[in-house]
Amino acid sequence: LTIGVPREVFAGEKRVATVPEVVAKLIKLGFKVVVESGAGNFANFGDEAYQEAGAEIIADTAALWAASDIVFKVRGPSEAEVGLMREGGTLISFIWPAQNPDLMQKLAAKKATVLAIDCLPRQLSRAQKMDALTSTAGISGYRAVIEAANAFGRFFNGQMTAAGKVPPAKVFIAGAGVAGLAAIGTAANLGAIVRANDTRAEVADQVKSLGGEFVKVDYEEEGSGGGGYAKVMSEGFQAAQREMYAKQAKECDIIITTALIPGKPAPKLITAEMVQSMKPGSVIVDMAGEQGGNCELTVPGEAVVRHGVTIIGYTDLPSRLAKQSSMLYSNNLLRLAEELCKTKDGIINVNMEDDALRGLTVVKDGNITWPAPPLNLP
Ligand code: NAD
Repeated sequence: LTIGVPREVFAGEKRVATVPEVVAKLIKLGFKVVVESGAGNFANFGDEAYQEAGAEIIADTAALWAASDIVFKVRGPSEAEVGLMREGGTLISFIWPAQNPDLMQKLAAKKATVLAIDCLPRQLSRAQKMDALTSTAGISGYRAVIEAANAFGRFFNGQMTAAGKVPPAKVFIAGAGVAGLAAIGTAANLGAIVRANDTRAEVADQVKSLGGEFVKVDYEEEGSGGGGYAKVMSEGFQAAQREMYAKQAKECDIIITTALIPGKPAPKLITAEMVQSMKPGSVIVDMAGEQGGNCELTVPGEAVVRHGVTIIGYTDLPSRLAKQSSMLYSNNLLRLAEELCKTKDGIINVNMEDDALRGLTVVKDGNITWPAPPLNLP
């Protein structure tokens, strides 16, 4: 079968779903690979590199889609792209079915088979190699610190210089899931004093192992909502948490927020009053912008200055590290291709008896198969 890699069309999207190194590996699995001319340009992978890896370059978008039995994409397809898709074709991409019911209907009408990379059952340990949510969140956490460092007017590390003593920056991380832990490690490596909080007490050891200090809320309540995710906390907890965050806002130079609750708006953790209490020149990076933001003053997609504090609400952090993101995403898709093509003959088998593949498959031969039944885990 032929795997096609189109140029991403979403405004500002710089990633590409397959990098040249992975093209060569897909060919070893028995596939033919076609790549749209310029698909990797923004991630620094030119057409020649794809050709050297064995791909055919196709300049015409419609011809690329027509030639592809299976399409590898980063962003879910636009309406025009669904129009270009082959009837009965296969698509592997981020889809977010709950947020995109119209897209799901259109894909079903195309008699497509669609594997939504965001629907991977992450609890399965053998699914980890395909977990693009984790690789993306790790990159976002790293990039959030780089954005903060760029907007901050001082060093992160403390220094003793002939020109005077410089104190280390103090960084507070709200939410220590995949992205938060990546941010903790990155900020600690730059030499900052790092503190972090999460409603799930189980992450305290992970925070410490990465060089951070876990700051507890003075209120006993278990924050785990199942599956490793958080739940909405009680009013009493939230009041105690606000008190602690207000203290951190006054003391810290940089706040990075990553707190999310599945299926709910992002918890509001940083109030306008807390922003006002921060030192001028402080920076907030709010990674929850797309879900409404963890800070009351965040403008999703933008960097704004409020009360002398820069508040960064960029929603394209992975795309801002396009080469790295494309490499890791491609590897996730390669691992998925290996699961789909165990016979290594370029033919795929979307085996609905396989828990990981069942979870990923949101449309099968034109039938909507999302949501998958819950897993029966021990
Ligand atoms: P997420 O993006 O849903 O949330 C980010 C973090 O915000 C979470 O740690 C959450 O507890 C925290 N949070 C939510 N509300 C908060 C609040 N009010 N105050 C402070 N913090 C709050 O989570 P994620 O990063 O995708 O991962 C969550 C968990 O899933 C992690 O423990 C991760 O290790 C686990 N995970 C497991 C697997 C696996 O088992 N294979 C794979 C991926 C992730």
